[in-house]
Amino acid sequence: MATENFHILTTSTFSDRLLNWFDQHGRKDLPWQQQPTPYHVWLSEIMLQQTQVSTVIPYYQRFTDRYADIASLAKASIEDVLALWTGLGYYARARNLHKAAVIMTNEHDAKMPNTIEQLIALPGVGRSTAGAIMALAHHQNYPILDGNVKRVLTRYDGISGWPGKKVIENQLWKRAEQLLPKHRIANYIQAQMDLGATVCTRSKPKCNKCPLQSDCHAFLRDIPQNYPSPRSKKIIPTRQINWLVAQLPTKEVLLQQRANTGIWGGLWSFPELNSIENIDHICMNQFNLETTKIVTQTHFRHVLSHFKLDIHPHLVSCSIDSNYITENKNFSWYKIQDALQLGLPAPVKTFLISLQ
Ligand code: SF4
Repeated sequence: MATENFHILTTSTFSDRLLNWFDQHGRKDLPWQQQPTPYHVWLSEIMLQQTQVSTVIPYYQRFTDRYADIASLAKASIEDVLALWTGLGYYARARNLHKAAVIMTNEHDAKMPNTIEQLIALPGVGRSTAGAIMALAHHQNYPILDGNVKRVLTRYDGISGWPGKKVIENQLWKRAEQLLPKHRIANYIQAQMDLGATVCTRSKPKCNKCPLQSDCHAFLRDIPQNYPSPRSKKIIPTRQINWLVAQLPTKEVLLQQRANTGIWGGLWSFPELNSIENIDHICMNQFNLETTKIVTQTHFRHVLSHFKLDIHPHLVSCSIDSNYITENKNFSWYKIQDALQLGLPAPVKTFLISLQ
């Protein structure tokens, strides 16, 4: 379902109000705004996908301290990149970032391309991220359509229907294009993001502080909470996994580097047990490890975007190392302090910390 009625409003009215608001209330001290080079804009935009500014800032600072530009990121190992990304989630973003840096180094002289088509061709760069780079870094008139902008536009125009649905998304892109200003594109795009993040928030929007209030469809009907329409409810499945948390008398723990594809691709995790019957036999048959004690820990839940994981850790004390482990490069024993420097899924990191 789409629109009820669109406002008869000039483009400049919407954007001028937003720009005036930005001049007084917009965020101007974010770290990536201090150096709005294409590299820094790209990096921040990727980190900000599905992630709040306050979470991103320390990661962004560590990342730019380590990798000052595209060429240094391309030279890094994917393991080091994933290690710096640990805790930020959605690890495909880190893998794509690294792949894109290698492509740009090989094909674009280690520079960000400056056409929307070339940007969209990079791994992990969608139309909205490409639009943000074009606007914020190259000052070209392109719209964005991230979660904040979708929320503001669906409320402002009264657009019903889940914004992830193609027909609604197309309608929002069209509207975002119509509303673009003819000047100050970078400030305008930042203003859209800021308004969504600080005023037109998901719950309890601060409509009394909003420059769009006078003709906002949702505000005038007192129904901001009705927008954006949610995705039709579907049941998120729950998977059960069993971790083998093997530990030597020296307290080193056994970790396995996961395959590059699938959940937590390329990260280090505890080996998973297909069965919990006779864990001591599995340890011997599969890893050639002799066990002295097995304690099953309380299970805990970790929620991912498409499913939930119920994680059952089994703490297994082992007497000595085995040839199988030393000869298999996907497995390694780590002191907990050293393991915490690796690229780890968030629940693995949390569990390792609890073992200290
Ligand atoms: S008036 Fe309220 S609902 Fe409308 S755009 Fe502003 S904050 Fe959002």
